[in-house]
Amino acid sequence: MLKGNPEIGLYNLDLPKGCELCRMGGKLVVFITGECGDNCYYCPVSEQRFGKDKAFANEAPAENLVDFIYEAYRMRALGAGITGGDPLIRIDKVVSLIKKFKDEFGQEFHIHLYTSGRYVTKDVLSELERAGLDEIRFHPLKREYLRAIEKAVQFNFDVGIEVPAIPGQEQELEKLILWSKAIGVKFVNMNELELTERNYAPLNARGFKSAHGLAGVNGSFETAYATLRKLHEEKIALHYCSSVYKDLVETRTRFLRIIKYSSKAYEEGTGEGTVLRAVVKSSQDLSDYGEEIEKGVWSISPSLITHLGVNEYVLVEEYPDWRKLKIGEKLVYSKPQ
Ligand code: SF4
Repeated sequence: MLKGNPEIGLYNLDLPKGCELCRMGGKLVVFITGECGDNCYYCPVSEQRFGKDKAFANEAPAENLVDFIYEAYRMRALGAGITGGDPLIRIDKVVSLIKKFKDEFGQEFHIHLYTSGRYVTKDVLSELERAGLDEIRFHPLKREYLRAIEKAVQFNFDVGIEVPAIPGQEQELEKLILWSKAIGVKFVNMNELELTERNYAPLNARGFKSAHGLAGVNGSFETAYATLRKLHEEKIALHYCSSVYKDLVETRTRFLRIIKYSSKAYEEGTGEGTVLRAVVKSSQDLSDYGEEIEKGVWSISPSLITHLGVNEYVLVEEYPDWRKLKIGEKLVYSKPQ
């Protein structure tokens, strides 16, 4: 029997541990480098990041390993997912970071890593195992990359496969799943194929259009669903993950966690993964109520407006992450008491 629902995701057995923690918003997203030796036509990595050796901890640029630790503390992360590009291009950095995470947060801090398999050798796998990697997810693009997976299942971490569900490729998916089961792969994740700014043209050229104006491609869910229905009784964990889930639910639950553990006293959570603050101009010292963001301009909690007798203020709604992207702002007039 399948569990879950089509809007979020469907699965037959237990969810992979990395996915379970992601659902709780507990995974730090480690983008270790944008460099990759492959060039998939459906690659979802943005133009700003792809091919560039830049790193990010969640949305924040990360210059060194401490930046990842800082961001993990800010959200009280339960684990991290290391992605790119192909992280194994920077194997030394990956290994140092895994060790640092485990030293700082303990062995139970769950770390999973994505790779195409192109740079996987026994030495690389040994280094990852010694560092304490918990889960490796392959995105095998060519037949020769399958050999990397055969090597990986001999190591002491969970091995999974994660691929986009490309409309019409039910037979290829079925073959991949049955082969994975036979060699001892623990799970196969099928992601809804997603349109992004960068892959829009190549996907459209292949006839893939968005479903209902959302990022998910028409027919991708149907391909994953048909595969799940056919194979759900096989003894291998299968999981379909929708693009809505990845873009909205995962990010929102992660933002809720950041708000819970590290929002400023004057930021009020909306319950939707955003915060509200009131921006007030005042020559008085309001440091007991908030923070001076520029000379004579203060951020204070919207619920203190009445108490302070402020006549007008700007109500700002924004995301809680490093970028502080504004969703909206409006001028509000309030009656002083
Ligand atoms: S392997 Fe991954 S990062 Fe590299 S091009 Fe393909 S989808 Fe993009």
